[in-house]
Amino acid sequence: MPTLKRIVKEASGQDISRCQACLDCDVSCPEDIDIPIGSMVQMVMFDDEEVLSCRTLWSDCVLNKARLACSRGIDIHAVMLVLRQEAHQRDLV
Ligand code: SF4
Repeated sequence: MPTLKRIVKEASGQDISRCQACLDCDVSCPEDIDIPIGSMVQMVMFDDEEVLSCRTLWSDCVLNKARLACSRGIDIHAVMLVLRQEAHQRDLV
């Protein structure tokens, strides 16, 4: 099975390895977040499947604010859509 990082790269063009774990990507959806967005991106980097079921990934509030959240230009909105699709394919939701 390809890694989550590769799946994201192929489906969205977003290169997760550019993430510096700076955690600048805060969005104001406090009730929807169990894992900070930056940590969610890092979980993809380390191919941690738990990311596919975290509350943050399934928050529409986060999704709607994620496109410009990364100071390094990673489109987290696009990344989240790929991860959601992957969760469905793995029958995790
Ligand atoms: S702002 Fe971008 S580079 Fe920094 S932790 Fe968030 S996703 Fe990674």
